[in-house]
Amino acid sequence: MTRARVLILNNAVGPLDYRVPHGMSVEPGSIVVAPLGPRQLVGVVWEADRMPSRDEVGDNRLRNLLQVHDAPPLGDPLRRLIEWTANYYLAPPAAVLRMALPSSSALDGGRTITEYRLTGQRPERLTAQREQALERLHDRQGLIRELATAADVTDAVIRGLVKVGAIEPVEVDIDTPYPPPDPTYGAPDLSAVQASVSETLVEAVRDRAFQPFLLDGVTGSGKTEVYFEAVAEAIRQGRQTLVLLPEIALTEPFLKRFTQRFGHAPIAWHSGLRQSQRRRAWRAISSGEGLVTVGARSALFLPYRNLGLIVVDEAHETSFKQEDGVHYHARDVAVMRGSFERCPVILASATPAIETRQQVELGRYRELRLPARFGNAIMPEIAAIDLIQDPPERGHWLAPALVNATEETLARGEQVLLFLNRRGYAPLTLCRHCGHRFQCPNCTAWLVEHRLIRRLACHHCGHVMPPPAACPECSEEDSLVACGPGVERIADEVKTLFPDARTAIVTSDTIWSPAKAAEFVGRMEAGEIDIVVGTQLITKGYHFPNLTLVGVVDADLGLEGGDLRAAERTFQQVMQVAGRAGRGEKPGHVLIQTHSPGSPVMEALISGDAESFYAAETEARRSAGAPPFGRYAGIIISSEDQKLAQDTAARIGRTAPRVEGMAVFGPAPAPLAMLRGRHRFRLLVHARRALDVQDVIRDWLGALEWSPKVRVSVDVDPYSF
Ligand code: ADP
Ligand code: ZN
Repeated sequence: MTRARVLILNNAVGPLDYRVPHGMSVEPGSIVVAPLGPRQLVGVVWEADRMPSRDEVGDNRLRNLLQVHDAPPLGDPLRRLIEWTANYYLAPPAAVLRMALPSSSALDGGRTITEYRLTGQRPERLTAQREQALERLHDRQGLIRELATAADVTDAVIRGLVKVGAIEPVEVDIDTPYPPPDPTYGAPDLSAVQASVSETLVEAVRDRAFQPFLLDGVTGSGKTEVYFEAVAEAIRQGRQTLVLLPEIALTEPFLKRFTQRFGHAPIAWHSGLRQSQRRRAWRAISSGEGLVTVGARSALFLPYRNLGLIVVDEAHETSFKQEDGVHYHARDVAVMRGSFERCPVILASATPAIETRQQVELGRYRELRLPARFGNAIMPEIAAIDLIQDPPERGHWLAPALVNATEETLARGEQVLLFLNRRGYAPLTLCRHCGHRFQCPNCTAWLVEHRLIRRLACHHCGHVMPPPAACPECSEEDSLVACGPGVERIADEVKTLFPDARTAIVTSDTIWSPAKAAEFVGRMEAGEIDIVVGTQLITKGYHFPNLTLVGVVDADLGLEGGDLRAAERTFQQVMQVAGRAGRGEKPGHVLIQTHSPGSPVMEALISGDAESFYAAETEARRSAGAPPFGRYAGIIISSEDQKLAQDTAARIGRTAPRVEGMAVFGPAPAPLAMLRGRHRFRLLVHARRALDVQDVIRDWLGALEWSPKVRVSVDVDPYSF
């Protein structure tokens, strides 16, 4: 009889031993179904043929494995990555494993899946719900559940429409292979610098060894073209490539570009996929037949069969840091995956993070530079508008200098981008009569007014309410005033100033799917938009040759929080948005509105002297022992019961171990003191780089117990302070 150690999808338990029943055969990585109490859970074999030590339960007391899925076993490098991630980020291994497996239904052997779509027939009896479904589903197809969600009706409504013949089932083949990308299809003529950089990357792919690269090139220098050469080489070798992008909205322009270069689209992996698309993609990835996958963070843990290259594009982006569930940084885990898979990893960025530059400094990453824009495009001119010297008119947000520049740009028939990293109309709404401020009932956050959808919304938990006609505090009518600007308010100002200009707002509220992004790109390229008002969503990846003026509405915004990356992030954000200007033949201009044009970050932006800014920031981090020279970990203690959370946090704080080179601060209210109805307290651990802080925390928390109403999670290398 044999015994296997299995990691099952239940966060509360670690790997457990099971008996492999007669006639079943498993190997390390096999995907199985195992019993746990009354339930049956998916799991992965971590050790097959395990020999128990003497004090473990005997074989005869083990429960049988129930089933082995007909799917390729998870490879050794991926299993090691899962262990590493769980250890490093102090997360349950099962929570990490969950990111590598699709939902269990996707593992079933079938080659087809039944989806549903409209037949075009209208039923005789039409309820309002049915009407709504027919209207919203005209070009949709999917599972009953997916259609119900898309139409915002119950499953029963959809089933009713199937019964009366308005919706019909269709069999979708999920085994259809993806056409292989063609490495020679649209190969560009590279410039001399591009060719030499790409040659280095191509050789690294041929070497089949772990090697991290920092591909450091100004915006528009051709970083994408250059790493595409490495992708082409991996394709020639029949090995898989993973390209990680920070935002799903970026995928569509990327897919288009990829198709122009390789003749076929890559596999796209993101949260918006239908079950059938997800299953087809997962199969192609795990069989090794799908050669190139592009996706957001969640694509990182998929079971690639023979990975030959990993690219992290816009590698400095903070959205690679996951703040929910397993707190991991996809950029850092990508490098670890490369080391286990023995393949090169390319981090591409125009504004690399200080952490990444430090790895270059230490000789761990190899830096490749593209110092100039491709072709005749030159870097844009950056100038500041001093909001104290040259303020906007009362009740306005755009200073005269920016308004004039916009006018001149429009007169030349060119496009303008106004950047403000704030969704909605106004970040704060208050009653002018009694001063009441609208706060989220679940979070420590103001409700943000969204005029397009006529709602006050919380950006943290999604709580929404219609703006009331009267103040809920003092009952005064029509007394609500909007404080401060969001993109919608800037768009309003633009419409008043330039009534003939065609304006578009680009935020996650308007660009919520790849199709929406494609539509926006199409309108920009066709010259149907004159002025874009957008959040950080617009700062990345887009290439609009006719966009020549960028206005940064509030460059001081990012500096408010005062966390250790504030200045760096402001620098990156402004450089990225500036990178959208003048990417073609016409030169670009950037105007940044700020209250402190003399601050180091503004001076660096205006002078273009990134090096001394980075040097000063790095030095400040070094002397403070901040990352990458020292490290932090947050221990977040949360509960719906405020006192319980606070008391538990205090108790955990009191038991903090005294360790040389480590200090514990707090507990204090966490950066979001209340989130989704849970009160949050935080202990902040600061440690020397060399200290194994995870080990210390594991021992410390492992010796403690707390109420089941309290949740304790650890955020290693936190990004919010
Ligand atoms: P980055 O990723 O560094 O911002 P891109 O790869 O997006 O730069 O290149 C900027 C623009 O220049 C793109 O439109 C790209 O197609 C074009 N480009 C870059 N290199 C070449 C080349 N060798 N031949 C033709 N076009 C190029
Ligand atoms: Zn909220």
